Amino acid sequence: MDIYEKIISLAKRRGFLYPSYEIYGGEAGFYDYGPIGVLMKNNIENRWRQFYLIKERFFEISTPVITPYNVLKASGHVDEFIDEIATCQKCGASFKIEDLENEHCPICKGNVEKGKLNLMFETFIGAKKKEKAFLRPETAQGIFINFPFLYEFYRKKLPFGVIQIGKGFRNEVSPRQGVIRLREFSMAEAEIFFEPNNKKHPKFKEMENEKLKLITEKDEEIFISIGEAVNKKIIGNEALAYYMALTKKFLIDVGIDENKIRFRQHKKDELAHYANECWDAELYSERFGWVECVGIADRSAYDLKAHMEYTGVDMRVFKKYEMPKKIKKKIIKPRMDKIGKKYKEKTKEIIKKLKEIEIKEKIEKLRIKIGEEEIELDKELFEIEEVEEVISGEKFIPHVIEPSYGIDRIFYFILEHNYKEIEKEGEKYVILSLPASIAPIKVGVFPLVNKDGLPEIAKEIEEDLRKNNIIAFYDDKGSIGRRYARMDEIGTPFCVTVDYQTKNDDTVTIRFRDTTEQIRIDRKEVPTWIANKL
Ligand code: AMP
Repeated sequence: MDIYEKIISLAKRRGFLYPSYEIYGGEAGFYDYGPIGVLMKNNIENRWRQFYLIKERFFEISTPVITPYNVLKASGHVDEFIDEIATCQKCGASFKIEDLENEHCPICKGNVEKGKLNLMFETFIGAKKKEKAFLRPETAQGIFINFPFLYEFYRKKLPFGVIQIGKGFRNEVSPRQGVIRLREFSMAEAEIFFEPNNKKHPKFKEMENEKLKLITEKDEEIFISIGEAVNKKIIGNEALAYYMALTKKFLIDVGIDENKIRFRQHKKDELAHYANECWDAELYSERFGWVECVGIADRSAYDLKAHMEYTGVDMRVFKKYEMPKKIKKKIIKPRMDKIGKKYKEKTKEIIKKLKEIEIKEKIEKLRIKIGEEEIELDKELFEIEEVEEVISGEKFIPHVIEPSYGIDRIFYFILEHNYKEIEKEGEKYVILSLPASIAPIKVGVFPLVNKDGLPEIAKEIEEDLRKNNIIAFYDDKGSIGRRYARMDEIGTPFCVTVDYQTKNDDTVTIRFRDTTEQIRIDRKEVPTWIANKL
C-alpha cells in the first residue's frame, strides 16, 4: 500500500471520507465526508475564515449554486471552460488529450476521436418554459455580479474584499485521482477589488520578508522574499504577492508541511480565460507529485467588464481627484440661423447630435447620421470653439485579485503530511499529527478502569468540556493503550484519564499525542487548560 491507499483506508475506517454511492457501485469524482471528516473540514474552513474574515476584515456572502445561462455566457465559461478530450471509438472511455501518450486508447488500444468538452454541469430552471442553467464552476461569479451592492455596502471605498465558501462543480473527464480530482468540491474564494493602478496591501511591509519557493514562467526555481520578487517584477504587484504569502501562512497553520509548498506561475498558454497572471500554490504528495491546491490570480477587470457589457449595468466606480483637473476641449458651435434655414424641422435633432461630438483635429466637413439618413454639414454651418472644462474625477472598472482555495485537496494533503507510522512492541500504530485547531476531536476522556466510580467522574469531565464548546469523546472500550491509539489515529491532540488518584486528590492525567508525555492537573482546570491549547 502506498501512502494514498493507506490514508484512504484509514479515512474510510475512521469516518473521515467515504467513496460516494458505494452501495450502488460508486461514482468516480465524488466523495462523502463522514462524521470525523466533517468536523475536520469545518475546522479548516473556520481557520480560513480566521484569516480572511477576521484578520483581513472581509465579509462573507452566500450565493446560489444554480446559475442562469446568461451569467456564465457573459463570464466566458460557456465558450472557454473547455477541455480538449479524446474518446475511444471502441470502448467509449474519454480522456483529457494532455493525459494521452498516443492516438490509441490506453484501456483497450482502440482508436480515439478528438473533441471538446465543456466542464460545466447543465441543468434547467422551471417546469414548462425551461431556462438553461449550469451548476456553478466557481463561487467567484456570485460575488462579481453583486459588485454594485457590495460596493455600496463597503461605502464606495476601494480596496475591499468579499469571500465565499461553497460548492463548485466541474464535470471532469474521467477523474482517476480519487479525492484529488472531484466533480463536486468545496472552494473558499476571496475576491479583492482594487484600483487598477494601485494593487497594494496595507500590511505588505509586515509581510515583505516572507520567502516563497517560486517556479517562474520560465521554469526557474527560486527561493525569494515577496518584497524582492515584486521589486524584480517576478510577481506582478504587491497585492498578488501578499496573498501568495498569506496563502503559505494559512497552509502551514492548518498543518501543511512547509517544505512541501511551492508557487508555480502559469505559462501564457496555460492561463484561464479570465486571468492575466496566476500563481498556483502546489503541495507535494508522495503519490501524486506536485498538485495545485490554491490558485492566486490577477483577474484584472475581466469579469466586471464582461458583466457590464452583457447587462448594461454600470460596474464602474467613480474616483474623485484630489484636485479637480482643468482640461481644454474643442467643441462644435452650430450656426443656428443657417442650419435652421437649410434643415427646417430636422434642426433640433442635428443640434443634439453636434453637441455629442468631440473634435480632435481641424475639420472642413461634418458627417452625421439622423435615423437612416446621412447628412453632410459644410464649414459655414458651424464654428469650432476651444473651451475649458473642470473635471472632478474619473470612472473605471476595478481590478480583482483572487486567491481560490480547494478545500478538499487541502484536506487530503493535511492527512498525507501528518500521517506517521510508528512501531511499538512489534505493533504498528498510526499517528495523525494534526494541529490542535484542525483536529476533529480535541480530547479523549477515559476512565482507567470500568469500575469504582471512575467512569462517572470521566463522564462528568467530558460533559464539562462540551459545556465549554470543546468536542470531547468519552471512551471506556478496550485497554487504555488501545484507547490512546484510537485517538492518535484520528489526530486527537490530548487525552484525559481518570485513575484512582483522582478519587483522592481530584487530579487527572493529560497525555500529549505526539510525545506521549503525561502531566497531572486539577480536574476542574481541564476545560480552561484545553481551551488555552486550542
Ligand atoms: P481553479 O479555479 O481552477 O484555479 O481552481 C481553484 C482550486 O479549486 C484549485 O486550486 C483546486 O484546489 C480546486 N479544484 C479545482 N478543480 C478541482 C477538482 N476537480 N477537484 C478538487 N478540487 C479542485
